[in-house]
Amino acid sequence: MSDSAYGALYVVATPIGNLDDLSPRAARLLGEVALIAAEDTRHSARLLRHLGLERPMLSLHEHNEAARVAQLAERLVAGDDVALISDAGTPLICDPGFVLVRELRAAGHRIVPVPGPCALVAGLSAAGLPTDRFTFIGFLPAKSAARRARLESLAGRDETLVCYESPHRIRATLEDLAAALGERRVVLARELTKTFETFLDGSAEMLLARMQEDPDQARGEFVVMIGGAPPREETDQALLEADRLLAALLAEGVGVKQAASVAARVLGGAKKSWYARAQALKDAG
Ligand code: SAM
Repeated sequence: MSDSAYGALYVVATPIGNLDDLSPRAARLLGEVALIAAEDTRHSARLLRHLGLERPMLSLHEHNEAARVAQLAERLVAGDDVALISDAGTPLICDPGFVLVRELRAAGHRIVPVPGPCALVAGLSAAGLPTDRFTFIGFLPAKSAARRARLESLAGRDETLVCYESPHRIRATLEDLAAALGERRVVLARELTKTFETFLDGSAEMLLARMQEDPDQARGEFVVMIGGAPPREETDQALLEADRLLAALLAEGVGVKQAASVAARVLGGAKKSWYARAQALKDAG
């Protein structure tokens, strides 16, 4: 397969739901390589059975990846071609393989990408949010305080933000999104390429209300795509209006803490930042 006497590592993308999405090139290579390194060999055995293939497999996951490097390098040196696959989509994209690819590339081995499905690209391609620039943030932290802090740190970014989310946390993440980023357009791509593929489009609060009405909307796998921060002039205008609201509340005798809480509820964003703003207005007299 490869020109040199050494074998090559093929990094092969596999379907994220619909098995017909496996490319003919990927199917051919999976049938030809001497060994398939798979995130979960039992899971990938189903794909191989579907393709009518039987190939030797070796597990490669986050707990044994570093230890597998030498073993796989030996196979390449012996002239064997190896394929790397994950449970779904493109290896290394929130999946194992980074250490292996980094080390094999550093050692001068040939690494060949075999492109195909990837949930974030599939989601972006159909969401209708700007894709000229975007930031992929992988999975957000599991704990709410850390998740909010991460989202707040991204609040000023004007490009589309993309993350992966599981059904266990999708509601909590939408709540944190609303609190940290305020009113933004969010597109949720659920169960891409599968029977119940759905796109939901609206503010985080609207999407939460939709899930309240129909709990099935919170099931399955998600790509969460968030519109970037509005242009600066719009932000300035919004801040002027926010200041007017805070000043009116303070003038009515409402305390700083309560005024911040009302502003966060009405305008979104973190209570902490509204508190600082209300305090500054009060101090300014
Ligand atoms: N390597 C994969 C890729 O190329 O997209 C991603 C693997 S990551 C461990 C799994 C996450 O990807 C899921 O929790 C979900 O957020 C997203 N995902 C995978 N398949 C999906 C699908 N069919 N629809 C929506 N999101 C999906």
